[in-house]
Amino acid sequence: MAPARAGRPNPITLRKDLARALKRGHPWVFREAVERPPALASGTLVEVRGRDARRLAVGFWDARSPIAVRVLGPGPLPDPGAVVRARLRAALRMRLERLDRRRTTAFRWVHGEADRLPGIHVDLYDDVAVVRFDGDGAEAFYRDVGPLLAEVAAPLSVRAVIDRRRGTRLFGRGAAAERVVLENGLRFEVSPGRGGKGGLYLDQRENREEVERRARGRSVLNLFGYTGGFALYAARGGARSTDTVDLARPALAAARRNFERNGLSDGRAGFHAADAFEFLQAAASRGGRWDFVVSDPPSFAPRQSAREGARRAYTCLHRAAAAVTAPGGLLCAASCSSHFGREEFLATVEAGARAAGRRFALIEIRGAGFDHPSLAAFPEGDYLKFAMGTLR
Ligand code: SAH
Repeated sequence: MAPARAGRPNPITLRKDLARALKRGHPWVFREAVERPPALASGTLVEVRGRDARRLAVGFWDARSPIAVRVLGPGPLPDPGAVVRARLRAALRMRLERLDRRRTTAFRWVHGEADRLPGIHVDLYDDVAVVRFDGDGAEAFYRDVGPLLAEVAAPLSVRAVIDRRRGTRLFGRGAAAERVVLENGLRFEVSPGRGGKGGLYLDQRENREEVERRARGRSVLNLFGYTGGFALYAARGGARSTDTVDLARPALAAARRNFERNGLSDGRAGFHAADAFEFLQAAASRGGRWDFVVSDPPSFAPRQSAREGARRAYTCLHRAAAAVTAPGGLLCAASCSSHFGREEFLATVEAGARAAGRRFALIEIRGAGFDHPSLAAFPEGDYLKFAMGTLR
């Protein structure tokens, strides 16, 4: 961690009145809210003050991001290193209390702001930890996190810590090679050492379980299927058939291998390297129908400004997905865009269904798994929507 300096953290003064939001636990201060933003190095500890010079929060500075301060707490914070260590430990304990480690060896250890460790996400793939820093401030503030994770993980063993964005190693030697991890007893191959994605979309674990529970006897279409996640659960749950569609051939090849290593490739699993929109159009024109369709696309609205385009893209996707869902069938539509709220996402599912001449009846909207918690005061962190319903 950034070493605790003698004296107090650098004071910064707010131009906007954020006292209530900060008190409620909102973890960000945008640069535009700061009075004459000082020229501090990223990762520097700062004390956020109101106009009356009262301390409102303590956090760390980011010299470039629009989020100028990520908040660690109300302060004072004499030993930030000890605080980070304690929070890492608490976050791990919370996961291990609930997970059956004999059946699940991949999970999210740290979910940033919601674990009071703003700007850092840590996924554990067996004995490899993959870290994502949100910006320079987090990267500098948590600069010693590699060895710290290995130390705090005990009794779990962490042999390597990888910086996902840079693909560099923050701890450990030797290759963090491809490996097979378990999720609810299913075997998945991952390449955590490569940086980039290479892992799993761990936030959908509980939704994959839900799909397994509902798959029996059904034909299942897994759109944006990646390495086969939803389809593997469906197959284990007794699906009549599964079809996995993804644009990325390496992901599909891994999906095929995952079916084999789980003993689920018995001729009822199809794999299609295709653009999901084109696949759906071709399937619809052949009269293709599935009893159960899962759609889990990448974020269509990575920025606030992309929302209008995202609305159109989601509606178009849901229309095409509804068109190939059998009458009375199930549709699960997911969105991982934090800039797209629950209600407006659901509206795209309903509008898409109507455009296909169908009616969508919602069963439930689910979110991310318990290892991806969210804060009431921080709706920005509640990004995953998983709308499940029937189509008449
Ligand atoms: N459902 C998966 C995660 C999906 S991630 C799971 O549970 O593991 C999104 C996937 O969409 C990625 O694998 C990406 O390759 C794929 N993708 C992106 N654009 C696509 C497109 N236009 N058509 C099909 N797949 C696409």
